[in-house]
Amino acid sequence: MQPSWVRELWYAAAVAAVLLLIGWIGGHPALFVLLGVAAYLGWHLFNLARLQRWLQGREKAQLPVAPGVWGDVFDELHRMQARNRKRKQKLARILIRFQEAASALPDATVVLSTTGEIEWFNDAAQHLLGLRWPDDAGRRIVNLVRHPEFINYLGAGDYSKTVELPSPCAADVRLTALIVPYGEQNRLLVARDVTRLHRLEQMRRDFVANVSHELRTPLTVVNGFLESLNEDASECPPQWTRSLQLMKQQTTRMKNIVNDLLMLSRLETDQRASAQNDVAVPDLLEAIVTEARALSGERAHSIHLDADPTLWLRGNEDELRSAFSNLIFNAVQYTPARGEIHVRWYGDAQGAHLAVRDTGEGIAAHHLPRLTERFYRVDTGRSRQSGGTGLGLAIVKHVLNRHGAQLRIHSELGKGSTFTCDFPVSSKTQRQGEARSAERVYRDINPVFRA
Ligand code: ADP
Repeated sequence: MQPSWVRELWYAAAVAAVLLLIGWIGGHPALFVLLGVAAYLGWHLFNLARLQRWLQGREKAQLPVAPGVWGDVFDELHRMQARNRKRKQKLARILIRFQEAASALPDATVVLSTTGEIEWFNDAAQHLLGLRWPDDAGRRIVNLVRHPEFINYLGAGDYSKTVELPSPCAADVRLTALIVPYGEQNRLLVARDVTRLHRLEQMRRDFVANVSHELRTPLTVVNGFLESLNEDASECPPQWTRSLQLMKQQTTRMKNIVNDLLMLSRLETDQRASAQNDVAVPDLLEAIVTEARALSGERAHSIHLDADPTLWLRGNEDELRSAFSNLIFNAVQYTPARGEIHVRWYGDAQGAHLAVRDTGEGIAAHHLPRLTERFYRVDTGRSRQSGGTGLGLAIVKHVLNRHGAQLRIHSELGKGSTFTCDFPVSSKTQRQGEARSAERVYRDINPVFRA
């Protein structure tokens, strides 16, 4: 089929020929042709005006009907309009289906604009986050979910982890919130109800804390009796001596496990370190190193301490003491006699660091990711024999978390290990006035020292 403009050309030529013929018969060919061209132009302008009116009135008005090329143009526009309408309806149906699916999600889902204003949210967001539609649309999410940790999380821009917070509309409901960035700087907030998990976790913590607490008294009594029996060993039958020693050793181990478990439950109950003070880390390390030398005893490790005397740390002294002594005492436990242990405390642009390096047995790479799990031991027999509880590094990890710090472990089998604690710049402080004497810190030290 010919294109419509070719047909139109033929019509125009035919009309011009007829007019020319009539004009020639009438004796005024030019006048007739001129009149014909004017009428033809007028017809085009008229249809152009109808098209413009239709376009200005958008697609609501009926498309005009016309013969010839204009009829084809209007028909084509009509078909385009129908296709667009269908596509729009299809998209609208898909959008509705998506919205229905998102609305039916049990997790609160909130679409946030680049600047953090609420654009859309589902039903779950209404009862989990207390949002109201349409009143809260366009409002900033931080004005409605005001929990400080959530505000920090949203502002920090690192969305690789979730944040836990109480629901703004029901204090006993616990939520974990996750921000999912998408598109051009848009963000999706997904909040999940974890109340049940939180309660279970709480029950587990309480259970461990209660059991540990309950075990403490009978253990102290048994330990006390065993101590007296060991002191008066001469009065006991000789075949008992070995048994009494073993019993004493095992009760001491149990006491250490109970103490470590209690310490862990205490660390777990609160996310942040309590009682933040300026801690004289160099003095603290000096005292721990003195303890470590005593622990090393006849194994005669050479233990070196290199600490920046002016570098202090903002934190909880008891917790830091526990973490640092765990690392330094581990180095002593897992380094053969006469091995070397270097303890270095230094600061740089990244923050403050404690590196404990030993020339011990080292740890195979596949153990490293699991080392800070509770009761995880590389060599179970060896750890038990040395009085280890398997909880030391778990305590270290918790303490460091509470101080915004990280633990790095580098180890090579047969060559030794380096445990490094990296504290953020914000934790660094300077020595204040007279530094406390190492002797005082030594007196303060808690009995983390293991028998
Ligand atoms: P434990 O009380 O058994 O020492 P930790 O949690 O302190 O428990 O350590 C976990 C395990 O990591 C230990 O059992 C030991 O196998 C290994 N480990 C810890 N520190 C060192 C080290 N400095 N050198 C070699 N192995 C180590």
